[in-house]
Amino acid sequence: NYTLGPKIHDWDEQRRRWLAQNNGFPATVPGGKPRILLVTGSQPGPCDNALGDHYLLKTTKNKIDYCRLHGIEIVHNLAHLDKDLSGYWAKLPLLRRLMLSHPEVEWIWWMDSDALFTDMAFELPLARYDSHNLIIHGYQDLLFDQHSWIALNTGSFLFRNCQWSLDLLDAWAPMGPKGFIREEAGKILTAYLKGRPAFEADDQSALIYLLLSQKEKWMDKVFIENSYYLHGFWAGLVDKYEEMVENHHPGLGDERWPFVTHFVGCKPCGSYGDYPVERCLKSMERAFNFADNQVLQLYGFGHKGLESPKIRRIRSQTTKPINDKENLDVKAKMSTT
Ligand code: UDP
Ligand code: MN
Repeated sequence: NYTLGPKIHDWDEQRRRWLAQNNGFPATVPGGKPRILLVTGSQPGPCDNALGDHYLLKTTKNKIDYCRLHGIEIVHNLAHLDKDLSGYWAKLPLLRRLMLSHPEVEWIWWMDSDALFTDMAFELPLARYDSHNLIIHGYQDLLFDQHSWIALNTGSFLFRNCQWSLDLLDAWAPMGPKGFIREEAGKILTAYLKGRPAFEADDQSALIYLLLSQKEKWMDKVFIENSYYLHGFWAGLVDKYEEMVENHHPGLGDERWPFVTHFVGCKPCGSYGDYPVERCLKSMERAFNFADNQVLQLYGFGHKGLESPKIRRIRSQTTKPINDKENLDVKAKMSTT
């Protein structure tokens, strides 16, 4: 039977003791908020095409920017820590490893390489999650009434660093091993989940299946979030960015100014996606520049348009840069454009 590693039973106790003995590494950051580690990753080798690697760099830069602005630490992983759990399953052993290696981290936040932050001012409403351990975007009715394979999205979710999360990872992993197991499990998932095409078991379907089949065991601690776009499907968003700029401002996180734009079904790097690669790349360029404008703006620059990598000055330069900085508060500044 497949396991992610030696079974740990007392992580909460081990972690509590470690935190008590290591006051220099508190589970909160200056200001008192819980310490967050954002984790992303991509395949160990180069993309089939150079453009794919270029977009991977852009999506990584986007995450570095968001994390820098909000005091979040970031890990970019290129390794397959477990040869059986390759591809989209690679996040499971990685999340476990990072929880155990970083007891000082309170929340581990997985984000797919193909997801971009498009609201640079929005912050997670962490206080809302005090009594939950897994925060994931989705819809209760799609999950429990429809058993839909897109009821939840595993492109952006958070785990609290605790025993419950280790247990959930253990329960989630068994459909993952590449080859016979993953293929056979894929058949079960396709038979069980509404709308699922026939293919090998993926991490998202397996999580939905687990939460449906063991609802009593897990759901108390799962927060299904949809009051903002912790994950936002790109196709409905990327063509509306100009309208958003016209009518709204960063910091809202929902359909007015989406927190995350996720390129589900696009494969700019590697095999064929569900959409034409030109449309995917153009849309990613728009999402990246939409977000990048919110960063460049702090320094007095902006893109010439959402489809242009070229930038222009949006403020004149002065001889008193500190005095003339209208407002040093990053968030207030971003939301006044
Ligand atoms: N991934 C990874 N290592 C790999 C392959 C994928 O870390 O070898 C990550 C990457 O961040 C990617 C995510 O797993 O965005 C999900 O995989 P994939 O892109 O195949 O699925 P999709 O994003 O289209 O749902
Ligand atoms: Mn993705």
